[in-house]
This record gives sequence, C-alpha cells and structure tokens, in this order.
Amino acid sequence: MKIFGPVPSRRLGMSLGVNNIPYKICTYSCVYCQIGKAVRMQSERQAFYNPEELLLEVEEALQKVQNVHTDYITIVPDGEPTLDINLGVLIRRLKTVGIPVAVITNSSLIFQETVRDELGEADYVSVKIDAITDLTWKKIDRPYKTLKLKSTLDGIRRFRKGFSGKLTTETMLVKGLNDTADELTRIADFIKDVDPETAYLSIPTRPPAVSGVLPPDEEAINEGYHIFSKRLSSVEYLTGYEGNAFSSTGNAAEDILSITAVHPMREDAVWALLDKTGDSWSIVETLIEQKSLQESTYGGHRYYLRKFTK
Ligand code: SF4
Repeated sequence: MKIFGPVPSRRLGMSLGVNNIPYKICTYSCVYCQIGKAVRMQSERQAFYNPEELLLEVEEALQKVQNVHTDYITIVPDGEPTLDINLGVLIRRLKTVGIPVAVITNSSLIFQETVRDELGEADYVSVKIDAITDLTWKKIDRPYKTLKLKSTLDGIRRFRKGFSGKLTTETMLVKGLNDTADELTRIADFIKDVDPETAYLSIPTRPPAVSGVLPPDEEAINEGYHIFSKRLSSVEYLTGYEGNAFSSTGNAAEDILSITAVHPMREDAVWALLDKTGDSWSIVETLIEQKSLQESTYGGHRYYLRKFTK
C-alpha cells in the first residue's frame, strides 16, 4: 500500500503515511527492523514511483477522510525514503496540498548535498542515530558496504546547520549492542551538538528481523534516559505505547502508565500524582504485580517505568 492512514502518532498527531519505496529496499538491514529482512540493499538512489501519481493517491485518501484533521503527510516507507531520487519533487508536490510534510529517514545518505537539500524542503525530519562507534553501527544497523558512519554523522551536522524545520532524532536501544553507558554517552553527546527539538529513544517492541534481538533491561533503559536527559532538554521514549502523557485523565493508574510510557517517573512525582487523585500507593503495587510497571533505581532515587518487556 503506497498511502495509509491517517493514523494517530504521538510525534506527529494525525499522520497520513506515504510509502515512496517498494517493500524493504533499504541502505540498512537493522537487526531490530520490524518489517523483516531487507529484500534488497543498496545505496544508489533511483526512481521508484511517479511523484504525480503519489500526489493523486494522497489527494484521494484525504478526500475520503475530510472529517479528520490531518497534521502531517509523512514519508515513512518500508525502506529508506532518501533512496528515492524523486524525493525532492515528491516533497514539493505534497506541500501543495497545504499540510506539513514529514520525512522519517535513517540518515545514511544525508552525506550527499542533494539529499540534504531535498530533506531541507520538508517541515519535519527525523534522523536515526543508533551508534557513534563504527563497530556498534555495523552490528546494529548493518549498513550497505559502501556507507561510512563518519560521513553520515558529518551529514547530520551539516543538515542541522541549514535546516529551519523541526528536527528530531531517534535512537533504538538494543540489549548488548548499544546499551552501555559509554556508547549511550557518546550518542547523547553527539545528539547534543545536533540540538534536536526532541531526542526519541526507541525500544524494540515488535518481532525483529533477527531473532534474539531484545530491548535492554529496564535498568539500562532508565540509565539511557538519564544520560540523554543530562545533555538534552527534551527526551522521550517512543515505544508504541501511545499514552497521552500530557493531559491527566484523573485516573491514577491510566495516568501513571501514560506518563511512564514516555519517560520514567521519580517516586516523588508518583506520590504527587496520587495526592492529586486522592489514591493510595496500592495502585502502583498493583501495576507492578500486573507487570505493567517496573521499579528501577538511578542516582539514589527510585523511578517507575512502563514495563516494556512483559
Ligand atoms: S533503516 Fe528502517 S527500514 Fe531500513 S532496515 Fe533499518 S529499521 Fe528497517
């Protein structure tokens, strides 16, 4: 399917998805990829679908959902969107619809000036930064043989300088691959320079391409969050648990689950929430018993996190 949605997305609100690449043609073959193994790996850009036809399909899809407010048209294929040599034309054509355009890229081709120029036409760009060291990058993202990590990182920095839209980063945490304090500190330091609006931490929550690929333990996820938070003003989890952490329902259990799906809650913040709703600590104990919530200690404080691995 080339057009899908609109679907609710925590990052983008209601988002109409555009698939500009045939199934699973990618520059990477990430161990955690949730859409299966790469059908074809390449770094050469080429033409895939006709941008005019994609635009027509987008217009048709929007016609059908006139009563739904669409916040973004998002180019988020089952592969790498910048492999499409017509990406720039596509973004320009989609923008004529009058809805902001977002692109979710693994940033592997951002070292190319043309790709940076094309992405620069979007209103929102999310770049993937899973590793800063070559060995980890090769283990986790398994890039196409011609790609170089240094070029990718330089490309992201350059793109940042010239981009006036909204830039976010996404880092997938994988147990045993990039979840050490050292690797996470290096990644966070790099992202600090990039200065994104929000740095998202993802965790594999659906079956990955390679069996045995797991999310880090809650302790490591919590530590990762704190390492990032010390350096960056806005850090959030992106885990598929799409609670609304930013408005209270008045139901303490629901609010705790929604908030902890986005970031860990310190014990005193949980108490403050319970005070507001007039509930007792037994709610927290029940959530822990149900394996929906996990307790973890960091820097001498107790934190509560949404349990990611049931
Ligand atoms: S970059 Fe995205 S589509 Fe490509 S292999 Fe990685 S997770 Fe899958």
